[in-house]
Amino acid sequence: MSERIPVVEKILSANDRLAGENRARIDAAGVFSINVMASPGAGKTSLIERTVRALCPKYRIGMINGDILTSLDAERAAAAGAVAIQINTGGDCHLDAVMLQPALDQIGLENLDLLIVENVGNLICPAEFRLGTHKNVIVASIPEGDDKPHKYPAMYRGADVLILNKIDLLPYVTFRMDFFSQGVAALNPGLTQFDLSCRTGEGLDAWYGWLEARLSGEKVPDA
Ligand code: MG
Ligand code: ZN
Repeated sequence: MSERIPVVEKILSANDRLAGENRARIDAAGVFSINVMASPGAGKTSLIERTVRALCPKYRIGMINGDILTSLDAERAAAAGAVAIQINTGGDCHLDAVMLQPALDQIGLENLDLLIVENVGNLICPAEFRLGTHKNVIVASIPEGDDKPHKYPAMYRGADVLILNKIDLLPYVTFRMDFFSQGVAALNPGLTQFDLSCRTGEGLDAWYGWLEARLSGEKVPDA
């Protein structure tokens, strides 16, 4: 038992080193990058699809999708106008920095303004593996319940931006906004949050504004 913890620490520190290399490449290309994480079905791909449609062709957007098996999400992003690369993780339930490297080789960073990584749908281990992206964006959604920040603290602690999606479902689902917000505030006080619906479009403009402020090179306070 006692030998297992150092092994895990070694894997994570090797990953951090590679994440640093990824970051250097992304920075050298002048690209802003986000790592989108969520449980399955929260709306990562819908958010990415809407974002690509809204910001292309003003900004050149690349999308790297981590999926256990399919390329359905990458195809949606490509149809919306992004350069999309699929990483099939072969059963792994998260992306890590080394998996990102061949995708970074392929995607043509020098031709991009924004790189969006869609992580595997999972609220646990994606939080442990840095990829080298600039900001962690967590997508929560009304139907998955108001207890998620209480149950998955690492994911919420490491977030730079929180998207609360599917707010159009609030009239139909029991979701205690105050309980949710208390959980978030305890882990990550002052976290930037956008409440929106990718289905109706409500609230999306504020999210686009946050991204555009970073893409335009404005001096913005760290989220
Ligand atoms: Mg998806
Ligand atoms: Zn995993």
